[in-house]
Amino acid sequence: MLDSLIRFVRNQYRTNEFIPLHAPVFNGRERELVLDTINSTFVSSVGTYVDRFERDMAAFTCSQRAVAVMNGTAALHIALKLADVLPGDLVVTQSLTFVATCNAIAYCSAEPLFVDVDRSTLGLSPAALDAWLAEYALIDDNGDCRTRVGHRRIRACLPMHTFGHPVELDSLITVCERWHLILIEDAAESLGSYYKGRHTGNFGRIGVLSFNGNKIMTTGGGGMLLTDEITGKRAKHLTTTAKIQHPYEFVHDEIGYNYRLPNLNAALGCAQLEQLPAFLESKRILAARYIEFFKGSEFQPIVEPEGCRSNYWLNGIICQDSKQRDELLQTTNNAGVMTRPIWALMTRLPIYTHALRGPLDNAEWLGARVVNLPSSVLPESIAS
Ligand SMILES: *Cc1c(COP(=O)(O)O)cnc(C)c1O
Repeated sequence: MLDSLIRFVRNQYRTNEFIPLHAPVFNGRERELVLDTINSTFVSSVGTYVDRFERDMAAFTCSQRAVAVMNGTAALHIALKLADVLPGDLVVTQSLTFVATCNAIAYCSAEPLFVDVDRSTLGLSPAALDAWLAEYALIDDNGDCRTRVGHRRIRACLPMHTFGHPVELDSLITVCERWHLILIEDAAESLGSYYKGRHTGNFGRIGVLSFNGNKIMTTGGGGMLLTDEITGKRAKHLTTTAKIQHPYEFVHDEIGYNYRLPNLNAALGCAQLEQLPAFLESKRILAARYIEFFKGSEFQPIVEPEGCRSNYWLNGIICQDSKQRDELLQTTNNAGVMTRPIWALMTRLPIYTHALRGPLDNAEWLGARVVNLPSSVLPESIAS
């Protein structure tokens, strides 16, 4: 089985060289647009590509407003600040995520509160959240959600769309409304993923994208906040040193951040975004082939949840147990075909071992079994 998997992956990428998990593709106008910023000298914090990238991304995702920043982690930090997450607050999230989700909470001097994920989405479970809150939380006289013991405010809920598979948003929105939690989506992995026809990142107050080098499209490093006009205006202000517009004076009306995306990176983003539909198409072709390949095997491919259209950023399978997983990891990596386990649960990291949590049975179960497979855009889909 493992030999035939290695052969299968090599066939997709038509190479005997090392096959990475995810490599970017620059086969559009990247060179042209990046060179244009260099020729213009506007490579840094001012320039037309930032505005254009924001407009194009808002149009692609059907968001009211998109605000570009230097990476996805910075976008998460600002999103939580805009949700008024204060020191000492708790923010609900999943333990099965990339560390940036939790770090952004810590940057606000708040703490994560971990609830379990669903096996069908790999993302935050609305039922697990509701059950935890029913047992351990209350709504106080100000309408704030607080823990019964310690009276700590639970301000927001930050689910993550794992590998581009949307969480169960309808139920999650209901639970967040019931418990007065502000919903913020970590959509870093789900650009091009839709829940019931609507782009992920548009369901809460703010959604966050990442354009790191390993994501479905890249700006080198970059991120984006998707939100409404008013919040977007605040986000722009806060991420550009909170400077009041003036022809020559320097007036800053609060402590802002220099989180701007440089024009150079935005130019790369504009060129990548032009190709995103082709990337998405290629990833669906590859995902369908993986699903077909694993049909009837001991490995269960991870497929898009019902009612969703996933971007299949990273393909994954669920092994029967951790022994089988380790065997697969070892054999494929030894053969130069890169595979990876899912992240260590955040609750296992020393920095978050003390965090509050509910039962994490599904996260533990998936954590021991999930493996990601090479998922770059297929060579046949790359225009020459
Ligand atoms: C990539 C990613 C981020 C943001 O990462 P940056 O490298 O800061 O752009 C945040 N959350 C998740 C789940 C991610 O995968």
